[in-house]
Formats: sequence, structure tokens, C-alpha cells
Amino acid sequence: MVPIESTMILKQLLKEYFQDFFPVDKPTPRVAWCSSVGPAEILVSMGFQVYYPENHGALLGATRQSNQYIQSAHAKGYSPDICSYLTSDVGAFQEGQTPLTKAYGIPSVPKPDVLVYNTNQCREVQDWFNFYARHFKVPAEGIFSPWKVEKITPEQVTCVKDQFKALIESLSPYSPRAFDPERLQQVLELSSRSSQLWGEFLRKSQTVPAPSTFFDGCIHMAPAVVLRGLPSAVQYYEALNQEIDARIEKQVAAVPNEQVRLYWEGMPIWGKLRFFSELFEGLGTSVVASTYCNSWIFDSFDTRDPLESMARAYTEIFINRGEETKEETLNSTAREYQVDGIIYHDAKTCPYNSNSRFGLPQRLHKKSGIPYLILNGDLCDLRCFSEEQTITSIEAFIDQIGEN
Ligand code: SF4
Repeated sequence: MVPIESTMILKQLLKEYFQDFFPVDKPTPRVAWCSSVGPAEILVSMGFQVYYPENHGALLGATRQSNQYIQSAHAKGYSPDICSYLTSDVGAFQEGQTPLTKAYGIPSVPKPDVLVYNTNQCREVQDWFNFYARHFKVPAEGIFSPWKVEKITPEQVTCVKDQFKALIESLSPYSPRAFDPERLQQVLELSSRSSQLWGEFLRKSQTVPAPSTFFDGCIHMAPAVVLRGLPSAVQYYEALNQEIDARIEKQVAAVPNEQVRLYWEGMPIWGKLRFFSELFEGLGTSVVASTYCNSWIFDSFDTRDPLESMARAYTEIFINRGEETKEETLNSTAREYQVDGIIYHDAKTCPYNSNSRFGLPQRLHKKSGIPYLILNGDLCDLRCFSEEQTITSIEAFIDQIGEN
């Protein structure tokens, strides 16, 4: 795999982001915890420093520490069947551990002043955030989104927009800054710009051969999630896109000798990114697109009406759509990226981001003819994943595509 040089800038950015929660020469910031597709722009505009527990869950998975901590959450009554981001994160918290200490030298996860979640992705975030609300004795504020939407109606958008307005009221006693609509516009402008640039980065892999893969995307998506609404995310993606443009010009492929192009549907298996990246490279296969990385492209952001457009953007995310919309989206995206097959990751502990359980792969195959493979695994809990079985299945799948 050809390394992406901007990774060095990314590491520094993330170090600064985490260390800013524990400044040595400034007062401690007010901290809001936010679910990964929660209304971060409102929080940033009101002066909170925003922390994302799902990013911590992914870090625990990527550093393969999850399985040390998951048991501790089970012992507290959190089931092995629920989100392993939640169980990894809650378990690590109970053990007083975090990979952030080794990576960035900070003593712990930052203490929240308030927690804000949106159920647009799943119900788990509500229970997850309420665990910390009880522990820290701080408020947990929820946005309850219409769920599994096909065509989005004005009433649904208004329902979410009204909840954003109520959220702003609830946050006022805790926020460092009073709510200012102009400030929200400025933050949304930055968020929208970084989201556009992130989308441009991903779409560059429509090029044949692809200049980057899904596994690169899993690393480089961090600013699109945790630096939403900040200028640093915009600057980062401008630099990253320049590097990728230069690659395309020189026809540098992420996977030299790319023969097969695949789509990855569902969650990453965080502790196995390198394993997959090397396995696919050895098979001359580039995983060029994914639902997961696309989830932080918010096309509907519009600074002319921040709250309304945020309500729309955060309701229309893929994970929150009905099966028909998901099927259409997968079909059109697979064609845009010229993929030869789709891998569906059936993640044991995330039914919300596993789209192979109700016949969608079979329906899409019938309609489009695109071959598919369903892999069993999990985002963090590696007890649910078998390397041997996965290698056998993927090799057979690539052979099948080659024969066709
Ligand atoms: S969407 Fe899935 S992985 Fe994300 S928090 Fe919810 S259950 Fe966990």
C-alpha cells in the first residue's frame, strides 16, 4: 500500500485536538460530548469543546484493546449483544484506562459538562450517554429523530429543527457563550466546507486505478468527525486533496496492479484494518468505496438556513434511511465507483449499520447483477471474527469475480 504523506499532519492535528481538553496555560474548557452524527455545529458555535465517544470506541478497537475492557461492561450488566463501541468505552472507563494517554499524553477522557446525542444512528447512544450522565451528574440532552425514513417530509424536518431549538435553550445555562445565529452560520460554513472536501477526497477513488482505499478513508475520516465546524478540518482536507490529485496525475495506485474493485458496506473491523488492507492488496483488489466513510458527507448543509438544513442533513444520513432508499443509494454508488462486487460486513453488535439481515444484498444482486459476499465480524469485538474463514471467503469471492 502506498502511504499517504498527509498522515503526519493528521497525527499532529489529532494530538492538538486531544491535548486542548487539558490545556496547561489556559482555563479548562467547557466540554460537550456528542454522538458522531449529533448536532456538533450548535455545540461548537456555543463555545463548547466537543468530544466524541464513538471515536474513542474506534480507537479502542483499532489498538485492539477493546477485548480487555468489554468484559468489565458485561459485568455491569451491559450485554455482549449491544454495541461494542459502548461496551469497550464503558469498560475502559470503569478500569480507568484510555489509549489517549499513550497516544497523546492526556490523563483520561475529558470530563463532560453536558452530553448531547441524536438517535438518528441508533438507540444505543441514548443508553451510552445516560451512563455518563449518571456518573458525572451532568445533563444528557437527546434529539429523537424520525427513524428509517424513505422520502423525507417537511414535517419530519420541522420536528428535528424544533428539537434543535429546544436543545439550544437547554444548553444555555452550561455554555461558555450565548447562542448567536451568526456564529452558527460561520461554524456551519466551515463544517459544510470540510464535508464537501471530504466528499471530494472519497470521490477521487472513482478514478481507475483508485488513488486511495476504504482503509485509508478509515484513518483520514477523523477530522470529518471530530473537527467538524473548525478551520483545521478544512485546511487538512485541502492539503490531503492536493496530495491525492498529484497521485492521480502520476497514476499512482493505492493498490499497485489493481485488478478488482470492491465496495465495503457496513462498519469497519477496526482491529483488522491492516489485515484487510494487506489481504486485498495481495489479491490485486482495491476497496474503493464504502457507506461508512460516506456517512460524514452532509450535502444539505446550507448557511442560509442553518437549523433547517442541519435538521435535514442529519435526518437523511444513510443509516437512518429505509431499505428502498438504501438499496438505491448502494446501487448508484456501486456504479459511480465501477465496483466489481460488494462486501457486506454483518457486524454482530451493530444491527443498525449491518444491511445484510433483511434480504437487501439478494434484492440488489437481482436488480444489478453485482456479486456480493457477506462477512461476519464486528467493529471492536474480535471474538466475533475469524481470520481463517474470512481469508477463505474473500479469496473464493475474488476468484468468482475473476471468472465472471
Ligand atoms: S451505530 Fe452501531 S456502532 Fe454506532 S453507536 Fe450505534 S450501535 Fe454503536
